Amino acid sequence: MTEVVVAGAGLAGLTAARHLADAGADVRVYERHGEVGGRVRSVRRNGYVFDRGFQVLFTAYPAARRELDYDALDLRYFKPGGVVARPGHRATLADPFRDFSGAVESLFNRDVTTLDKLKILQLRRELAGKSDAEIFAGPDRTTRGYLRDRGFSAKFVENFAEPFYGGITLDRSLSTSKKAFEFSFKMLSTGHIAVPARGMGAISEQLAESARDAGAQIVTDETVTGIEGGERVRDEVAVELGRETTTADAVLVATDPKQARDLTGVESIPTEAKGCVTQYLAFDGPELDAGKRILLNAGASESAGDDEGADDGTKTDSDDRIDGPNQVVQLSSVAPEYAPDDRTLLSATFLGVPDDPDEDLAVQTARTLDSWYPERKISLEPVHTSRVEFAQFDQSPGVYDRLPGVRAPGGSVFLAGEYTEASSLNAAMQSGRKAARAILADLQ
Ligand SMILES: Cc1cc2nc3c(=O)[nH]c(=O)nc-3n(C[C@H](O)[C@H](O)[C@H](O)COP(=O)(O)OP(=O)(O)OC[C@H]3O[C@@H](n4cnc5c(N)ncnc54)[C@H](O)[C@@H]3O)c2cc1C
Repeated sequence: MTEVVVAGAGLAGLTAARHLADAGADVRVYERHGEVGGRVRSVRRNGYVFDRGFQVLFTAYPAARRELDYDALDLRYFKPGGVVARPGHRATLADPFRDFSGAVESLFNRDVTTLDKLKILQLRRELAGKSDAEIFAGPDRTTRGYLRDRGFSAKFVENFAEPFYGGITLDRSLSTSKKAFEFSFKMLSTGHIAVPARGMGAISEQLAESARDAGAQIVTDETVTGIEGGERVRDEVAVELGRETTTADAVLVATDPKQARDLTGVESIPTEAKGCVTQYLAFDGPELDAGKRILLNAGASESAGDDEGADDGTKTDSDDRIDGPNQVVQLSSVAPEYAPDDRTLLSATFLGVPDDPDEDLAVQTARTLDSWYPERKISLEPVHTSRVEFAQFDQSPGVYDRLPGVRAPGGSVFLAGEYTEASSLNAAMQSGRKAARAILADLQ
């Protein structure tokens, strides 16, 4: 029986472990933390669910549809679009295809122009006819330059694209690849945004259970510290686990990118990070009228967006222009299971990893909400803060052409991780499946 060691029990490692075990391999997964999931974990405490930073599942993700049992995840859905917010002003930008009640309000939303709404429909039609492979092929450029050249208004870019896509790619400057934008736009227009009722960590827990059911062994609190040998396919590989060493016919390195680069020496593994801080805050009293929509921080100034926007690739200082979090989400409205019955739970996400103390971030969020909802007195209690230095790798234009493949180390050593594809949950699961297939093809 082919013996495979998997280093890392994030989404990529767990997906690979399941496929390998399903195909009859003898699989051992070593995970350095006490629990599985890597970047996709949840803390459940005092009746609350705190995800490891604000994360969501796009239900249209092809790999997620293939690998996950959505019914068992008991998904809770966001309303599409968002609420564009600035001091004394809130306006709903709805998805006209799915939410007709919001579409009426959208027509009167002056934060984007009617022409933008038509352009959204046009883009949606165009991307529906493109495969995912087509989206990631060909020339690349920044999202900002792409939106400008397609004729979207500066208002649309500043009021909607910056906070909304900035929240997805952790890059409000929109200097991320337009391919990441096109892919997420397609996912959003063909599916829903959701979280599992038990938190995003339920995704990892489900994958781990499937891997174990298929026969894989998952060992937590065990770090892979080195790999020796395996230069040629079918060469035995020695896997160092601190002071012990074990052997296998193949090793799959499914750690985070930095560790993967250290363990394999593959230099094309991207290690430039995008991070964020998500703070969870609770309050009593009626929920905010944003309901199940994301509140987008459009910045302070209504005149913002009257200019033509920055040149392609040029970072603007719009990050600095906003006070407070990039986006606020009323999680307990989307998923009541995220908070005790009598409380409303918000998440507030700050891009980058500001080193402000937790209390200062809470003050900034309170000030921001007061300015968006001057008619309400909301008394916020910070209940948890999640700081993630490496949430995604930097996806600047051209990055996808430079990413390593799953066979990059060569011989009996393989790679799995979001960074062999793109930076997303989908990419992690996709990479795990590809790596398992490569191992099975090479070794059996
Ligand atoms: C705050 C945040 C928000 C995000 N938002 C979204 C979103 O909304 N939508 C989306 O699609 N994606 C989002 N992502 C990205 C997504 O979570 C990741 O792309 C994906 O989870 C990466 O999975 P992975 O298995 O490749 O890596 P990881 O999750 O990093 O897993 C690697 C695992 O390897 C383990 N490990 C590391 N070194 C060793 C070692 N030496 N030995 C043993 N084990 C080791 C780690 O502990 C970890 O468990 C977000 C991520 C974060 C953190």
